[in-house]
Amino acid sequence: MKFKTFPGGVHPPEEKELSEHCAFERMPAPSMVIIPLSQHLGKEAKPLVAKRAVVAEGQVVAEADGFISAPVHSPITGTVKSIGRESHSSGYSKDAITIVPFEPKEGEDAPAPVTLPPLDPATVSVEDIRSRVKEAGIVGQGGAAFPTFVKLTPPEGKAIETVILNGCECEPYLTRDDRFMIERPDDIVAGLRLIMRALGVHKGVIGIEQNKPQSIASMERAVASEEGISICTLQTKYPQGAEKMLIKAVNGRVVPVGKLPLEVGVVIQNIGTATAIYDAVVKGEVSITAALTVTGRGIHTPKNLIVPVGTSLSEVIAYCGGLTDNAAKVVVGGPMMGVAQHDLNAPIMKATSGIVVLTREDVRRQEETACLRCGKCIDVCPLHLMPTRLARLSELNMLDEAERLGITVCMECGSCAFTCPANIPLVQWLRLGKQRVMQQQRSRKSSAA
Ligand code: SF4
Ligand code: SF4
Repeated sequence: MKFKTFPGGVHPPEEKELSEHCAFERMPAPSMVIIPLSQHLGKEAKPLVAKRAVVAEGQVVAEADGFISAPVHSPITGTVKSIGRESHSSGYSKDAITIVPFEPKEGEDAPAPVTLPPLDPATVSVEDIRSRVKEAGIVGQGGAAFPTFVKLTPPEGKAIETVILNGCECEPYLTRDDRFMIERPDDIVAGLRLIMRALGVHKGVIGIEQNKPQSIASMERAVASEEGISICTLQTKYPQGAEKMLIKAVNGRVVPVGKLPLEVGVVIQNIGTATAIYDAVVKGEVSITAALTVTGRGIHTPKNLIVPVGTSLSEVIAYCGGLTDNAAKVVVGGPMMGVAQHDLNAPIMKATSGIVVLTREDVRRQEETACLRCGKCIDVCPLHLMPTRLARLSELNMLDEAERLGITVCMECGSCAFTCPANIPLVQWLRLGKQRVMQQQRSRKSSAA
């Protein structure tokens, strides 16, 4: 049977078998939480608490600052230890609020957890869905961590026809979305219904790669009597879950360069985001936990976990039995687009989808050679770019030409580098070139203003 897909892409080893059978476990409260003010795309949140303040679990500790921003809440009842620069899984240090568990003095009671009133999903209004999603601080679980409220509030005059739920989970190793679809199919469909209602859309499609048969069966059962919602089984190929690739595969539309899915009448949400929306609306929960896969041959006991936001990577790793003797690299996210960590004090954030620990054998570097001009990187680029040429232009700092050939369009998916027989670090050059071109564009804009 031929499954839908997009042109280009690669087939890295899937490695899902390490954790796909591990049901979600809830990790106990950690010894301390470090809550970054920047856990989303857009402006970081503004702190509302001071050092030594006592805060309740679920209390807002920093408010959204502007339209593209999201509030952050305390995942534990505790005392604010400090507010300042802390490690961040992006590799840069960022402002964060550090909270230690509450230790009552004599006669003192811990403040009660803060919850929001549950809303009836059958009757909740569009405005109430949007404001609940905003208040709960939900951000996209698919990687970019875009504030979800913004995606549910499209600009006037934009006609949206379809909501696509992204259940591809095309990054190797990760199995979080797979477990959500196996364990909470009805909640996912109810979350999708809420998204469709907020956007006034009558068509929902759940895209799932063919390598998740249990998820496909589970979601097919959940939508069997749901009008307007269907399952689309997709070929297993990386990066099938990238927004533009998913839209192309599901309904054949092409998002124009530099535009959003809205331009072709589509809004995409991740499986985990739909679940978080259900939890916020129906159960009154705010975003104080992250659902993630901890896996790789460099970790003793791979697991799928629900972890309080702010828990350090090292505490999560210790909970999974610690690192093996040949562990060599800890990556936050998947191995294709994730970020290698140099400091395991960095905290888990709302949209952290996984911790992948690779071994020395996994990361053994192969010698880089000169470009063979084989064109393989061009064949696999899902955005039809010329990675070899762009990387060379970046290396030579020929930014105008790199801009003309579309370097800023590159989504850094890593397909080109994965396929390169000369082991050229294409993504590193592309990323550097992209940053420099964007910097140049900003300077041009500010000098023209
Ligand atoms: S990293 Fe960029 S250039 Fe390379 S395949 Fe992905 S989109 Fe294309
Ligand atoms: S895949 Fe590697 S060797 Fe082949 S053309 Fe691209 S950069 Fe050169």
